[in-house]
Amino acid sequence: MLVVNGFIRFALLGAILLAHPLLKADGGSKAEPATCRTTLIKDITIISADQHRVSSQTGFVLLDGGKIAHVGQTKPVLNQPLAGKPGSHPLICNEIDGRGKYLTPGLIDSHVHTGQMIGFAKKHHAKYPALVKSYLQQEPRNYLYFGFTTVLDLGERDSAVEKAWRDSEFAPNLLGVGLSVRQFDGYGHNFYPKPQRYTALHNWVYNPEQVPDIPPQWDLSRHTPKMAIQNAVNAGAVAIKVFHEDGFSGVIKGLKNPSPAILSEIVKEAHAQKLPVLLHATSLAAYKMGIEAKVDILAHGLWHFETGNFLDVAPPARLQIENVIDAVVKQGIYVQPTLRVVLSESDISSGKLLLHPDLKHALPAPLLAWFASDEGKWGTVALEEEMDQFKPDKTVANQAYLQASANRVQHMLGWMAKKGVKLIVGTDSPVNWNGLGGVAGLNGLLEMQAMAKAGVSLEQIFIAATARNARALRLDASIGSVAQGMNADLLILRSNPLQDIAAWNDIDTVIVRGQLIARAVLSASKQQEPKQQELKQ
Ligand SMILES: [Zn+2]
Repeated sequence: MLVVNGFIRFALLGAILLAHPLLKADGGSKAEPATCRTTLIKDITIISADQHRVSSQTGFVLLDGGKIAHVGQTKPVLNQPLAGKPGSHPLICNEIDGRGKYLTPGLIDSHVHTGQMIGFAKKHHAKYPALVKSYLQQEPRNYLYFGFTTVLDLGERDSAVEKAWRDSEFAPNLLGVGLSVRQFDGYGHNFYPKPQRYTALHNWVYNPEQVPDIPPQWDLSRHTPKMAIQNAVNAGAVAIKVFHEDGFSGVIKGLKNPSPAILSEIVKEAHAQKLPVLLHATSLAAYKMGIEAKVDILAHGLWHFETGNFLDVAPPARLQIENVIDAVVKQGIYVQPTLRVVLSESDISSGKLLLHPDLKHALPAPLLAWFASDEGKWGTVALEEEMDQFKPDKTVANQAYLQASANRVQHMLGWMAKKGVKLIVGTDSPVNWNGLGGVAGLNGLLEMQAMAKAGVSLEQIFIAATARNARALRLDASIGSVAQGMNADLLILRSNPLQDIAAWNDIDTVIVRGQLIARAVLSASKQQEPKQQELKQ
């Protein structure tokens, strides 16, 4: 989903999601190192967090298979049974000297949409299938390259993407929401004509007053909150995704939203299945609804103040938004600021991402060359045209709107951080389908950098990307911290992420399900060159 000043375009709906490698330490059919499954990392600075603070110690970490078997200031005693493996006395077949390095949990991005090409219109998909293929092949590697060992896909389940990730030599843990829970004629449905929308996004619920609008062939007993949650669970959900969207301050008209009663029931049914609920919420009304229904996570920042003035950076005092933020804090609701949803549009407009020194690690060379060509810059033009069409005041320059939006999302995040809102890292990558904006993986680094710029402390960013993200998803018993018995999803960094946000881009080794991968191996520049004739079809 893309919101710019309230202008919206959309990432492809109907994509995604997948399996639960988390539940299996060995992660299914991934290629695992055949010989060595036991690694001792010595004399490394171990940095880990709980919900409130980050702590550091220098010591030893033993990885056994896909698990962390020991963490401590002293060497593990190897004649003792290892955690979870009674009686095993593994030989340590790999030792790493960690002096001068930092061991952290792998990062978690709790809002992605996998299997989606960036910056390609329909005609480009048809014209350059090999470029699309090369990007999607690189996608799981990109998340790892930038340190993300777990991602949560908030789109519809897509078995083709799951298979591609399973077959990839390197991929993070991919989790999903199974099927998102839609409102009849609500956000999502508006992208399809009637009546196809009811089939395309079929896991919908309705408010009682909508019954006369529902075609008679639909069996309403299959569209209750209870059934919708069960459908998501059956499709492999680890969390429930639901929406409250009024139309981005009036840009889309007539969207329906779940009533407070329906949303509360969705939350109740999800909690009965021990699943957290993420509410798509960008407006004041949506935040209020999420608070009332006691959702677990608000996906997106609070950007739409309902003043009708798209140039507002701070909300007018009369809206009393402070009270809403206080309630978010009081109820302990997690917030994904997803700054990149808005900031990536500024990047599309300026074309400046093309100059990013790390883009070459995220985009295979032929694709990089295409984005640098005149044809590849089509998204910048498309964005200008779209803004010209939708902006409420035609005399205001597009740049002014983009700048105001960027300032607004950062301002609101800074405010929330000061108030003590429980922030978690989610990017909504790739966010938009036209233009070079939300590149998988790189977008996560940019999100964390933008959080720092908005005033979130390095310690809070660490927590938001690791332990708290895991807790919000109710997965903190297996991921998000460096502790005995946890999954061996870790990063070895060359610099200290509590001293400089840039440390998250100074990765030496990525460890996922116990598999050690030198970062350089994951770079798009290492992707096998597709045959030239394949690219030219
Ligand atoms: Zn999303």
